Amino acid sequence: MFVYADNAATTAMSRAAVEAMTPAMHQLYGNPSSLHQKGREANYALMGAREAVARCLNASAREIYFTGCGTEADNWAITEAARLGAEQGKRHIISDTIEHHAVLHTLKKLEKQGFEVTYLPVHEDGVVRLEELAAALRPDTCLVTVMFSNNEIGTVQPVREIGALCRERGVLFHTDAVQAVGHMPVDVEADNIDMLSLSGHKFHAPKGVGALYCRKSVKLKNFIEGGAQERGRRGGTEAIPAILAMAAALEESCAHLEENAAKVSAMRDKLIAGLRQIPCSRCNGSPDHRAPGIVSFCFEGIEGESLLLRLDLAGICASSGSACTSGSLDPSHVLLALGLPHEIAHGSLRLSLSAYNTMEEVDYILEQVPQVVRELRQMSPVWMHMLEKMEDPYRAAN
Ligand SMILES: *Cc1c(COP(=O)(O)O)cnc(C)c1O
Repeated sequence: MFVYADNAATTAMSRAAVEAMTPAMHQLYGNPSSLHQKGREANYALMGAREAVARCLNASAREIYFTGCGTEADNWAITEAARLGAEQGKRHIISDTIEHHAVLHTLKKLEKQGFEVTYLPVHEDGVVRLEELAAALRPDTCLVTVMFSNNEIGTVQPVREIGALCRERGVLFHTDAVQAVGHMPVDVEADNIDMLSLSGHKFHAPKGVGALYCRKSVKLKNFIEGGAQERGRRGGTEAIPAILAMAAALEESCAHLEENAAKVSAMRDKLIAGLRQIPCSRCNGSPDHRAPGIVSFCFEGIEGESLLLRLDLAGICASSGSACTSGSLDPSHVLLALGLPHEIAHGSLRLSLSAYNTMEEVDYILEQVPQVVRELRQMSPVWMHMLEKMEDPYRAAN
């Protein structure tokens, strides 16, 4: 059996996305900035896509800027909010410890330029506390950036309440909603969001296209210098086929949001219940505030990498944490932020599902993972050492 369970890293393109992209690649080759008919044709299509994306977020089309990826949208939003803050002498930013590196590395760069950043701790459940945010806000705070839902452990933050608090204090609120858009309801008005990043390839659109939502009251300037595209704010000829595919994928996801979330959560819950049966295992993240598709576990006494390789041999594509940190031997900053010791964070497994997965696949995962964990533990000196200290080693080993 083959199971793709790494949808938080990227998703397969939907039929709707391919069907929007293919004719665009054949016919819509005009440059949308050109005045002739081929240009106008591409420009109309672009306007349609912008309106579709805006509708899905309850935004207006002029608040949507297409970008090359989610990372670019994060870099742009945070850098611009910081620049706007500095203009008013405000150089303090609030974020948290489990953000994606697109956010964390942008903040590190701003710190080198003299900005001060407060990283709110997340509790054991991976959720930011509103009281702690309220206490961290200062007169010189110019931006709060907290992600909508986490890509490694799936925790969903109290975005609407965070947004309300920021609005009350006159502070800009940006959210990295790359894992949320297309998977759960996101409404920039109801959720009090000023700036939001999204990425196509996390909801069945192609890779290499994303968008930034920026409320019209925010005096956004360009991040990429160049031509007059995206109302002069983002130079570079628009990737028409990819943008149209993203709009189609998003419209489809939003139209089936509830049924997909119900289907995916049912698979997620079955996985969690099954994996909990493995002795000395731990489900990471919040039991209540959790994205539909993300399951994160730690298994004591084994290395996450060995587990992944063995699962790959069994036809299961999973991840140990974030794809962006694979290849480095450090445990994930997200798992460490939950307070897990290094040796436990090392034995992590992330399974991320989409509506394309099936219950049969979940059953197959539940057959394979316990078996592989047991075999790896039998070869692990660390595990043998742990067994010696246990009260009921027989139960743990079987
Ligand atoms: C994937 C991801 C990104 C980066 O998006 P790209 O389009 O791959 O650059 C940013 N934030 C989160 C939470 C993500 O999951």
